Amino acid sequence: MFDKILIANRGEIALRVIRACREMGIASVAVHSTADADAMYVRMADESVCIGPPPSSQSYLSMPALISACEITGAQAIHPGYGFLSENAGFVQMLEDHGITFIGPRAEHIRIMGDKITAKDTMKALGVPCVPGSDGGVNDVDEAKRVAAAIGYPVIIKATAGGGGRGMKVAQDEAGLEVAFRTARAEAKAAFGNPDVYIEKYLQKPRHIEIQIFGNGKGRAVHLGERDCSLQRRHQKVLEEAPGPAITAEERARIGKTCADAVAKIGYAGAGTIEFLYEDGEFYFIEMNTRLQVEHPVTEAIFGVDLVRQQIRVAAGLPMEFHQEDLVINGHSIEVRINAEKVPGFSPCPGKITQYHAPGGLGVRMDSALYQGYSIPPYYDSLIGKLIVHGRDRTEALARLSRALGELIVDGVDTTVPLFRALLEEPDIQDGNYSIHWLERWLEKHYS
Ligand code: ADP
Repeated sequence: MFDKILIANRGEIALRVIRACREMGIASVAVHSTADADAMYVRMADESVCIGPPPSSQSYLSMPALISACEITGAQAIHPGYGFLSENAGFVQMLEDHGITFIGPRAEHIRIMGDKITAKDTMKALGVPCVPGSDGGVNDVDEAKRVAAAIGYPVIIKATAGGGGRGMKVAQDEAGLEVAFRTARAEAKAAFGNPDVYIEKYLQKPRHIEIQIFGNGKGRAVHLGERDCSLQRRHQKVLEEAPGPAITAEERARIGKTCADAVAKIGYAGAGTIEFLYEDGEFYFIEMNTRLQVEHPVTEAIFGVDLVRQQIRVAAGLPMEFHQEDLVINGHSIEVRINAEKVPGFSPCPGKITQYHAPGGLGVRMDSALYQGYSIPPYYDSLIGKLIVHGRDRTEALARLSRALGELIVDGVDTTVPLFRALLEEPDIQDGNYSIHWLERWLEKHYS
């Protein structure tokens, strides 16, 4: 086992990894930009290293700075968290060249899944059902029109290198296709430096259902059920729950096994998430994330496992601490993402936290790096915390979430907390009756 792990991330996820390290008796090294010198996760780590100025490109994304930090502190492994370098195959390769272990899958698996067309082809070949669409990339408008006519409108044009909900455009009919195609390509080039796009059938009322998988890197893999992340704004998740209110035990077992078998076959190591759209009882693969997800705590709650601990074990060459038959669902869990944003525009709202009080009590977990007096810097993601509740069933989880949101105080900046208080009053949310379009429609109705 490693003696010391460096966490190449910041905020709540850095703190999350530090906590797992401490419980495992492993020393932790935090890295930070000058803007994060006063951050909670820096104080909680055993050691810390300043790796650069505020812009991520010169700090959290600086591979030489991270490798130097490992060398200075003697850290043997890096946990990447999510975002930043967590899905960068070149980084994994560079770490390998320096004899530092990457806590995550092998570079080749990151590379395959990082290109959405290759990912889809690979999954299809492994027996995973996919959204109908173009076979590979689409290079010009005429080809786009042929593909769209064949699969039927509406269609969605997506960036091959996409992520974070960007570079996607919907075309309702042939008249709208040309503009959508050109805009998607331009956006993809601007956001990812790669204009390549592909086309999929645009599903009208799907749910976003993702399967958590875990592989030992030696041909054994398990699944930890699904998360329903359908409550989204601009293709970005806002609230997640497990198990999914619309998924039956039979469906879970079937799609879970398909996913676990697929990743076992390629010798996948560590945590991964296979994302699907789910409509009328069918699952359609959209992408795989080769890292820990923001919403992993809802899975941890219902299975009673620490996914970060398992990631560290597998990276160190130790076995996973469970087999498929050990993984039994207990109750229901819901997470809400607390962002420093002003609703309804969701514009970032950095600034000083004048008052902070975290909720507690049975079944409440607050993953946050906030404290009273902390100043949220303007340079990074606006996620400042995640409130996760666990109950015996969905009704209890909802009541607990409502109670916990009532206790939570975050003053000094605008947050998404009032949004969740309002959402919990909605019968559709109480009934678990929502698709990926529900929230956008609700926001339109309530704020326009
Ligand atoms: P990203 O990597 O940018 O997150 P995804 O492929 O995971 O992109 O898609 C993000 C979200 O976009 C999905 O959760 C869903 O809401 C929407 N979406 C993607 N593909 C489709 C599709 N074929 N039909 C309808 N909605 C889609």
